[in-house]
Amino acid sequence: METKDIIYELRTKKRLSQEELAEKIFVTRQAVSRWETGETIPNIDTLKLLSKLFDVSINTLLGSPRELICECCGMPIDDCNLSREKDGHFNEEYCKWCYADGEYTLDIWKRYAEIGGKEKLEEFKAQLIHEFNTLLHIEGLPKVENLNVLSGEFINMEYTLPNGEKVKFLDDKQTYLGSQLESEFGGRCFGIAANMDFLLVCTYEENGENPELVIYKKR
Ligand SMILES: [Zn+2]
Repeated sequence: METKDIIYELRTKKRLSQEELAEKIFVTRQAVSRWETGETIPNIDTLKLLSKLFDVSINTLLGSPRELICECCGMPIDDCNLSREKDGHFNEEYCKWCYADGEYTLDIWKRYAEIGGKEKLEEFKAQLIHEFNTLLHIEGLPKVENLNVLSGEFINMEYTLPNGEKVKFLDDKQTYLGSQLESEFGGRCFGIAANMDFLLVCTYEENGENPELVIYKKR
């Protein structure tokens, strides 16, 4: 759908006349009329006001030209799971689980936001990807292209040692950068995880069954 149709639909759904909508967002009725005929589109400040008023993202108002992906966890996002700033505006970069009320919710992300923000985290991610690809030499492990932020709770597998003892290496309450990759030989999956201190590679069957630790390497 185009912006003109979207604005028309949102306005009529809210039972506002062009005049009433114009008043709420500090423009003239003629401006609203021009958007709805497709002559012009609202400027960025007005898009922000429309976004707030109709509770839809700017991306939606523009006819969804971008496919929104959470920059933190990599999940596709839409208006239902977008994060918000403290003032209620949408933040179209993150999902609502990774970022809420103007703050990152995950510790690894917070830590980097404090020392230099997203750029620093991206640098760290690139460094870890480089280490996975050059230091480990694990047969069947494909090239690592990306890492997502993962909660320890979901990836903290229990490994059985040869003597039958069971061990875990991660902390449920921490977050890690990691990913799942299919083995180049088929069959098992690789799970990789890392933080400032270590790199971990394990393999497992579908649904995480029969996990085996491949390597746990201090950085
Ligand atoms: Zn997310």
